[in-house]
Amino acid sequence: MKIAVIGAGIIGVTTAYELSRDGHEVMVLERRGAVAEEASFATGGIIAPDMPSRETRHFFNRPKPIRLRWPIAAHELAWFWKWQRARRFERQPGHRQQLQRLASYSLERLQQLTAELKLDYERAEGLLLLLRTEQDSKGLQASLQQLRAAGREFNELSALDARKKEPALSPDTPLFGAIELPGAEVANCRQFALLLKNECLRRGVEFAFNTEVTQLNNASGVTLRVVGDAKAYPFDAAVICAGADSARLLAPLGVKLRLASVQGYSISAQIREPLNAPRSGVVDQRHQVAITRLGNRVRVSGLSELGGVASHKRADALQTLYRALHDWFPGAAKLSSGVQEWQGARPMLADGLPVIGASGLPGLWLNLGHGNSGWAHSCGSARLMADLIAGQAPEMDLPGLGIERPSR
Ligand SMILES: Cc1cc2nc3c(=O)[nH]c(=O)nc-3n(C[C@H](O)[C@H](O)[C@H](O)COP(=O)(O)OP(=O)(O)OC[C@H]3O[C@@H](n4cnc5c(N)ncnc54)[C@H](O)[C@@H]3O)c2cc1C
Repeated sequence: MKIAVIGAGIIGVTTAYELSRDGHEVMVLERRGAVAEEASFATGGIIAPDMPSRETRHFFNRPKPIRLRWPIAAHELAWFWKWQRARRFERQPGHRQQLQRLASYSLERLQQLTAELKLDYERAEGLLLLLRTEQDSKGLQASLQQLRAAGREFNELSALDARKKEPALSPDTPLFGAIELPGAEVANCRQFALLLKNECLRRGVEFAFNTEVTQLNNASGVTLRVVGDAKAYPFDAAVICAGADSARLLAPLGVKLRLASVQGYSISAQIREPLNAPRSGVVDQRHQVAITRLGNRVRVSGLSELGGVASHKRADALQTLYRALHDWFPGAAKLSSGVQEWQGARPMLADGLPVIGASGLPGLWLNLGHGNSGWAHSCGSARLMADLIAGQAPEMDLPGLGIERPSR
């Protein structure tokens, strides 16, 4: 089939690769000048099959998982309300299992592709969730119990053992203990996307950059219209991987998606002294900030905000990241110059799960809304998407990710 993939973030690139591998003729249309220029640009890089989440009722006075910023639109408030209600789904074992299965499958697929294609990108193994106090540890217990029941692997470490795993952790910052996720890794999402794009090109995938799709039509096959071109481009099918903007493209066709752009930030800086830097990755559970090592750089990422002015990097948000770096790895990075400060928007549905599957309209497929874990879930989502398009049973059964689910 001749298939269009709309969007060349990590989801679009992995999808294009899997489709070309199945023998389809693939064209990727991307409004930016290169792959991974939006949400996939400077992510924390965390790929964790089992990420326990804290039970918020123990944390009344802690930062909220998503903060509202002014100005906020009515549709964002409506999304926030639905998201708060849907958080009870998040805590249900079924919901968590879906995410964990997708994450495990994705990690497996990522590792297969990396080995098979000999992809060389910045990565390191292991992840520690840092617990500042006993209360932080208590807040995670319900989630850890679910992981235990599902037979997932994790280790509860004392502060001493955590410091052995990450010897550069500052002795001046109180640490109660840590959860070690042995299967997890940190890796450079954008670098992977660039490498996989080259593999796509080798397979004959065409990339049309600086090409913004403005209109979709599925009357006979799928036709696309793009900015500055009167022509309509015909395809047998199209996969929408346009991240946060997917809802806008689909709305005129009657496909309704409650998709929010949840803003986050990262800073990346050259390592000044490797002995003071993380070996792999840590997450400060209380502040929900990740500090990861990507080659000779350290990246600090986090914060989740809805509303506000999209392209305005808030100084106090960035300060939170600098403070976390200073708390845990003081002196690790060169901060005097050359620091990359970045703001990105996570495309997120209210129930926190992505939509992978048919749109309900012939020829139109959806792979979008990966929220906090688009990098971690990309390779599995792409393989799943390609299997669904081919009409073959996916390697891993992952029901409940379709557009028809009521919780989204
Ligand atoms: C601060 C931060 C930290 C994060 N850390 C992690 C992490 O540690 N681990 C993890 O797994 N995930 C992480 N994420 C989440 C992850 O970045 C996203 O889930 C993922 O990048 C989403 O990928 P995507 O391809 O769907 O979206 P995008 O990367 O945004 O790609 C969508 C693409 O579609 C293009 N597009 C949109 N509309 C059109 C159109 N009409 N025509 C043509 N092109 C179009 C856009 O230009 C864009 O390139 C983080 C996110 C943020 C913000």
